[in-house]
Amino acid sequence: MVMVLDKCIGCHTCSLACKNVWTDREGQEYAWWNNVETRPGVGYPKTWENQDKYGGGWVLEDDKLRLRLEKDKHYKPPSLNDYYNPFDYDYEQLFTQEILDQQPSADPLDMYSREKIDIKWGPNWDDDLAGADVIAPHDPNWNGIDKQIYLNFKDVFMFYLPRICNHCLNMACAPACPRKAVYKRPEDGIVLIDQNSCRGYRFCGIACPYKKIYYNWKTGKSEKCIFCFPRVETGQPPACTLSCVGKIRYVGVVLYDETRVPEAAKAPEDQLVKAHRELILDPFDPQVIKEARDAGVPENFIKAAQESPVYYMFKKWELALPLHPEFRTLPMVFYVPPLNPVITVLDRNNKYSADYNSIIPAIDKLRIPIRYLANMFAAGNEEEVRKSLKRLLAIREFFRRIEVEGQSKAEAAAVLSEHGLTVNDADMMYRWLALGRNRWVIPTSKKELRVTLTRRGKGPGMGGRQRG
Ligand code: SF4
Ligand code: SF4
Repeated sequence: MVMVLDKCIGCHTCSLACKNVWTDREGQEYAWWNNVETRPGVGYPKTWENQDKYGGGWVLEDDKLRLRLEKDKHYKPPSLNDYYNPFDYDYEQLFTQEILDQQPSADPLDMYSREKIDIKWGPNWDDDLAGADVIAPHDPNWNGIDKQIYLNFKDVFMFYLPRICNHCLNMACAPACPRKAVYKRPEDGIVLIDQNSCRGYRFCGIACPYKKIYYNWKTGKSEKCIFCFPRVETGQPPACTLSCVGKIRYVGVVLYDETRVPEAAKAPEDQLVKAHRELILDPFDPQVIKEARDAGVPENFIKAAQESPVYYMFKKWELALPLHPEFRTLPMVFYVPPLNPVITVLDRNNKYSADYNSIIPAIDKLRIPIRYLANMFAAGNEEEVRKSLKRLLAIREFFRRIEVEGQSKAEAAAVLSEHGLTVNDADMMYRWLALGRNRWVIPTSKKELRVTLTRRGKGPGMGGRQRG
């Protein structure tokens, strides 16, 4: 999946779609397999990126990858306080309250005890920078930045970060499980937990650096995002993607060389994004097609890989970046970093100028510090972020030259070639990013491939009683 962050409006529709479909049941009250965080902020569970606290991901020592959890067995999964105490409301109160001059209200109720509670934290407590002066300084992505500057009202910035399980190539969750209950489906790469094998030890939840595994207190087993596999098998996008109001989510197939995964995960920190990209194969290369066929990859998957927005945005155009590559799990959800907004900075520093030549040098003065984005999406490698943002700006400039200045496509194309893009790339980007067309290209899976799933157990990821 690719998520284009400039387009996210923070409406949380994705989270609610996911909640209603998969976790609206006992044992998963606190669980948001999909959540949307405001940045700068601490996220859900609180400060999940801080691996000194949570012990997730891999560490590289003497050219060997070891789970951080394996090095120090004292790490614990997040507590309910780190997530939040789930609550709903006393709706009965709306009908039974005596008639007052003001609007009636419903007090919050603890979802476990049904007692009234004083809410102190929630999965989006810092939504839209609420309480940012107190909460945002604890965001782990400030490394190398004078955060006080950016917490002044006139300099503050904000963007949304939607998150699901990244269905990583070098998962930390699976090897941490002594029962081998966590596995990656070979047919489509979706990472699942076999509910028949899971005994609820929760090592997977500690090892996942994204904290995307949720313990179900009712069944005593761990659960996670299943990438809506029953939908995906029939060629439909996951519920979060279908419901996304901003049309920010793109889903597609990529072909990769599995044998090179361990080497890519061991790349030097500033080379991790590059190594990750090199794993992804060109679906038009005749040799790749031949090897894919020899390996039993169905024709409709090869065709889907050639039309995949994920292939173009992550590999070909290098617009999208992985979240925290330094965790070394090679996550397969990518983000196109936000530009948001360009003009504010130009107003302040250069007066307003629509001159492209003054925008590109000003990229380091954009409202969101490049360093912050690099800490989040490129293990600190600012050049990876700059490349992506410059290409996004080049596309805007290309269309501005045509629409505003009346240049021909051939004339305007000079701005694209400066950044290694073609007119065809620009047209494709326009259709995908601006118009939001064909955002998912999902092949239906073959029955014979689904044997892998049925052999493993009865429907992974599910457990507990469904309400309603
Ligand atoms: S993000 Fe998903 S696949 Fe990656 S380590 Fe966490 S649970 Fe496993
Ligand atoms: S539904 Fe889409 S636009 Fe709304 S918060 Fe989720 S990802 Fe963002």
